[in-house]
Amino acid sequence: MNTIFSNTKDAFSIKTDFELLRAHFLFKIIENNFLVKIGSSLINLALKFYIPITPIIKITVFNHFCGGISENDCNSVINKMYNKNVCSVLDFSTEAFKNETEFDKCLKKKLSIIDFITNRTEIPFAVFKPTCLGREGLFEKVSSNQKLDLNEEQEWKRVINRFNEVCNKAFQNNVKILIDAEEVSVQKAIDDLALKMMIKFNREKAIVYNTIQMYRWDRLDYMNNILNNHVDIIFGFKLVRGAYMEKEREIANRLKIESPICIDKESTDINFNLAVDLVFKNLDRVSLVCGSHNETSILKILDLMNEKNIDKNDDKIWFGQLYGMSDNISFNLGIKGYNVFKILPFGPVRNLIPYLIRRAEENTSVKGQTGRELQLILNERKRRKLEKI
Ligand SMILES: Cc1cc2nc3c(=O)[nH]c(=O)nc-3n(C[C@H](O)[C@H](O)[C@H](O)COP(=O)(O)OP(=O)(O)OC[C@H]3O[C@@H](n4cnc5c(N)ncnc54)[C@H](O)[C@@H]3O)c2cc1C
Repeated sequence: MNTIFSNTKDAFSIKTDFELLRAHFLFKIIENNFLVKIGSSLINLALKFYIPITPIIKITVFNHFCGGISENDCNSVINKMYNKNVCSVLDFSTEAFKNETEFDKCLKKKLSIIDFITNRTEIPFAVFKPTCLGREGLFEKVSSNQKLDLNEEQEWKRVINRFNEVCNKAFQNNVKILIDAEEVSVQKAIDDLALKMMIKFNREKAIVYNTIQMYRWDRLDYMNNILNNHVDIIFGFKLVRGAYMEKEREIANRLKIESPICIDKESTDINFNLAVDLVFKNLDRVSLVCGSHNETSILKILDLMNEKNIDKNDDKIWFGQLYGMSDNISFNLGIKGYNVFKILPFGPVRNLIPYLIRRAEENTSVKGQTGRELQLILNERKRRKLEKI
């Protein structure tokens, strides 16, 4: 199907010939399930035995999917993309944070990033993963309404304070902030905290955005519920399909409980579309971030915006894709004047390896995604060759 996303010249306008060749090579490897499995195991083994593989990872997969090692390191990519009207959201790698000292360190980092991006229109949101501010086991206990002992109660208070500190800083600096969604086992505690933050900081406009995973069949009810029960706040919703499908299904199987995930991809897509409809019905009090690489979902939102005469650059509606993927969507949206950003992960190469392995695994498991990326890259390489003749 030919759509506004088929234009590869604009899609890859910031990529050099070398970067395109590298992307071609990477997606060729990612396409192969066997190579991804072997590659991931070898990388983990090499890291365990301190074999110096990070320089190779840095110039290949890291540079394709990540912005750099530090905030300043990312500036060159940020500026190149912003030249094409594509914004960035800096996502500091948080895989390494596991204890109270590290949660505090992570909090400091998140606060400093908010300072770094304040008043920079090219970086419209901050973002954080909730379990980088507290222990996963504690989020699980709170989510399942288990009784906390005295120490845990203190520990949970510290988590609430960290949430509050990040959101308050975002509010004070007028920076919109995205709260990532995680596994179902920790999500209820995250949702409750996110709602508290929205009640506190989203009185006049959406500052805090919670993420809603539409691969969960219970999420439409959840959205309807909070919309009906809180009529005096502006909601920020980041709609995604959800990243932990296989893990959730495996847990449900093991515990012999009903899976929280929609029965098939089509049901997830229907659920996603219904959530989009719900958002558009309530646009006077909902702001939307559509975090998706799905062209059909994005085209649906463009149609609705057109139908309802909403300006392309209305701050209520943003689109987001991951850096290194679906450039055809991001750059063609940007060139047409829509609000769009790339999630730009950054941090030490070693810390980002789990993220990079996830990207490879997700691209291998999500049917069609890699084939689509490869075809677009091939088309653009062909187009450039012809242009040079
Ligand atoms: C900007 C951005 C932010 C994100 N933030 C988060 C986040 O905070 N939390 C999070 O969990 N994810 C997040 N994601 C990842 C997201 O949830 C998806 O995993 C990813 O974007 C792929 O979905 P899609 O809509 O892009 O594309 P598509 O390729 O159309 O959809 C693939 C998705 O459909 C669902 N799916 C696939 N097969 C089936 C099946 N058989 N049955 C039911 N459902 C199925 C899965 O969710 C799968 O990931 C984010 C993605 C982006 C782009």
